[in-house]
This record gives sequence, C-alpha cells and structure tokens, in this order.
Amino acid sequence: TTAVVLFTADLRLHDHPPLRAALRAHEAVVPLFVRDEAVTAAGFAAPNRTAFLADCLRDLDAGLRRRGGRLVVRSGRVTDAVCAVAAEAGAVEVHMAADHSGYAQRREDRLRTALEAQRRALRVHDAVGTVVPPGAVAPQGSSHYAVFGAYHRRWSAERTREPLAAPRAVTVPDDVRSEEPPTRRGEAGVSPGLAPGGETEGRRRLTAWLRGPLDAYAGLHDDLAADATSRLSPYLHFGAVSATEVAHRARARGGPGAEAFVRQLCWRDFHRQLLAARPAAAHDDYRTRHDRWRSGPAAAADVEAWKDGRTGYPLVDAAMRQLAHEGWMHNRGRLVTASFLAKTLYVDWRVGARHFLELLADGDLPNNQLNWQWVAGTGTDTRPNRVLNPVLQGRRYDPRGDYVRRWVPELAGVGGPAVHEPWRPAVRDRIGDGYPPPIVALPEALARFRAARGL
Ligand code: FAD
Repeated sequence: TTAVVLFTADLRLHDHPPLRAALRAHEAVVPLFVRDEAVTAAGFAAPNRTAFLADCLRDLDAGLRRRGGRLVVRSGRVTDAVCAVAAEAGAVEVHMAADHSGYAQRREDRLRTALEAQRRALRVHDAVGTVVPPGAVAPQGSSHYAVFGAYHRRWSAERTREPLAAPRAVTVPDDVRSEEPPTRRGEAGVSPGLAPGGETEGRRRLTAWLRGPLDAYAGLHDDLAADATSRLSPYLHFGAVSATEVAHRARARGGPGAEAFVRQLCWRDFHRQLLAARPAAAHDDYRTRHDRWRSGPAAAADVEAWKDGRTGYPLVDAAMRQLAHEGWMHNRGRLVTASFLAKTLYVDWRVGARHFLELLADGDLPNNQLNWQWVAGTGTDTRPNRVLNPVLQGRRYDPRGDYVRRWVPELAGVGGPAVHEPWRPAVRDRIGDGYPPPIVALPEALARFRAARGL
C-alpha cells in the first residue's frame, strides 16, 4: 500500500511523526508539499520567507533522494492537490502533523471531508512545531494561560516525547508527477544577508550552538553586539528543525545557558496556545487600552522614517537596518523598535507588525502579533505602559556602541557609547553625511503617550 505524507510547517526528515507512521504502515509513501495559493492570496508570502522556503524544499528533496525517494511539489489549493496526488498514487491514506492556527484547522477540516468523499483517511499526528501542543495544558476554568510565569512552570513539568531519528530509506512511486522544487534565485526583494534555509543548515547550526555558545546564553542573550543567540528562529518557523528536538538536546546539555534558552522556546509555545484559543488576537487587541492611535500625514512620515532606519535614534535605526539587510532582528532590537513605534510614535502596533511580517524570515502570526501586543501593552505584559527609552536601552544593551556602528555607517566615526546620542555637540562633527536629527523629542512623546493612556 501507499500513503501520502503532507509536509506543511515541518520541512524536515528528523523527528517527523507523520513520516515515521506512514513508513511503518506502508511500502511506499509520497512526500508532498503544496505551494498553497491561499498563503499567497492572504499576502503572507513575503520574499524572504519565500526564498527561505525554497531552500527548505530543495534540501528536503535532496535528503529524500539520498534515501532513495524524492519530494513531490504541487501548486494550487491544498485540498485539490492532495486529493489529486492521493488518487494518482492510489494512496489509501494521508498523514500530516496537527497545526492549531485558525487557517490550519480549516485546512484540516476541508481535507478530511474531501478525502472521506474519496474513501481515504486523514491521519493527524503530533503538533507540528511545539514542544507542548496548544491546549495540552490549561489553567482550571480557562482555555489558555495568559500569564507566562504560570504557563512556564506548568510547561516545564510536562513530559515530552523523545525525538525520532530520520528514516534510512524512503520508497516513492515513480509515476507521481512533480513540479521542479522552487529555488530562491530570481525571487525579487530578498534581503542580501538572508540566512540559507533548510534542514541540513538548521541542524548544522543547532549542533554548533549546543557545542559552545549555548553555555554563555544566560549572560549574553541581550547583548546586541555579541549576537549571541541561536538564530534558529526561521528554522523553527518552517520546521526545518523540530522544537521538540531542540528542547530535548538543550536540556540534555544542561546548565544555566540551556535553562534560559529552553525558557525562550516556552515563549513560542505560550503564544501558540494563546492564539489557538483566541485566533482574533492576531488582529484585535487581546486587552484593549482604548488607544486612539495616531494617523494622518505626520504619523505616516514617522512610520516611513521608522521603516527606513532614519528616526535619528541610533539603536532604533541600527535594528531596523539589520531587519532590512538580514530578514532577521535581534530580540532586544525587536523590543526597542516596537516600543518606539507603538509608544513613542504612538502608531497602531498592527502597522509595525505588518512591516515585520513583510521582512522577517521567521515571521509568524503567534510570535509576531503577540510579541507586538506584549510590547504595545495590549497583550499579556503585566506592565502595559512601560516605555523603552532607546538611548538608555542603547547604553545598557550596546554599551560600547559596536552594534550601532555595525549597522549605521554614518556613525562609524563616533567612538564608544557616545554613538547613542549623536545630537550632543561634542559628537555632532564626527557624524558622516546625512544622519538625520531625531524625528521626535522623547519627553514630549512620553507625555503624549501617557496622556493618551490616561496615566
Ligand atoms: P533565541 O534567543 O536563540 O531563542 C530561541 C528560540 O526561542 C527562538 O528561535 C524562538 O523560536 C524562541 N523565542 C525567543 N524569544 C521569543 C519570544 N519573545 N517569543 C516567542 N518565541 C521566542 N519570533 C519569531 O519567531 N517570529 C516572529 O515573527 C517574531 N516577531 C517578534 C516581534 C516582536 C515585536 C518581538 C519583541 C519579538 C518577536 N519574536 C518573533 C521573538 C524573538 O524576537 C525571536 O524569536 C528571536 O529574536 C529569534 O532569534 P533567535 O532564534 O536567535 O532566538
């Protein structure tokens, strides 16, 4: 017999429960990826993610070929493509991983109905990208945790399964047609410094990370210039590495670095369980603060300056330029730039979240929208009105100013932490051409925000 294995956000061969189950029960499998037109139609196929995805698909195909198989790629509507491939292959069932996003739930329901009409079964396995699946733990009387600390305690006590090895051999029937897997070449608008995608690269990075840098993570993860985080987020987003395996291997390594790192993986699951229970939080305030965000030409000009990394606040500008150049931004940069947009400029967090989604290789709804809400004070943060001061944040998390000089060449001639205050007279004449003055004065911006929130 033959089964189809539908790959979605789990573009890997290691730790893949649907593939494992299908290979155990059938002589042949059809590993299938559908380039889903609904993702493009929803405006979610940003160039950086499309390019990263192409790398992932090429690598998955190569990995399958080394095992005697290949990846089958189709484009169009998922339901139509899966049913067509299942019919061509004479497959008796389709295996896939559970996914709890609103869209994925609808996709699963439609697929089940369509397959049942063909007398085929849909088998859904462990959740696609979490250590602890959404809904597996919940406080009494509620669908989800809204307090991270409580969730983290419960999450840490949860037993998790052992990661699975990659299969040794995969047999794919010859007569199933496939499109050529896409390449990132020719994809317009890709950030020049975008990391290469794929399971091979993800695993290489994971192994290198666990061997050394992880141990220093607790002390260095907020140091912008040290760049001492794992950078695994896009690989986790596409499932090129499995969150279960990452957590398992980090825990096996142990120590304070591993503990702090695994805690960040818990944040991922926290946002996923929250969005699974409250899908509207991707767009609507989770907790309204009755904000009447700025709009109009002046606000639009501020947003453009923010996007371009030309606000005149060096740390904000450095981080926004890193985002444009790499399709990735350090977490501390994300916190500072998001606070700057939502609180200092007092512009709707959705405007900033949309821009991040257009550029981030790791951009996803739970992590992006709910982190934005957390920073904007409309989410789960217990200090919703805290405003991050970009100068103080710079002095604290980029104490020598190296991060700013790396990304803002106009300021390369300014030594040390003075780079965080380029408007000071002693610094002004060492600044290269064209670095703008601040677009807003911080005390006034703070007063505006506090008045708007009624503080
Ligand atoms: P590490 O520090 O090595 O952490 C390991 C992993 O833990 C990350 O790869 C990530 O999967 C997870 N993680 C770390 N911090 C968080 C967090 N705060 N919330 C959820 N998961 C976390 N992360 C995304 O994956 N996609 C996004 O679209 C995204 N948007 C964000 C928007 C804003 C405004 C903010 C403040 C944060 C956002 N984050 C997002 C979270 C975080 O910034 C990134 O996950 C992290 O910077 C990725 O780098 P890393 O892999 O080196 O992280």
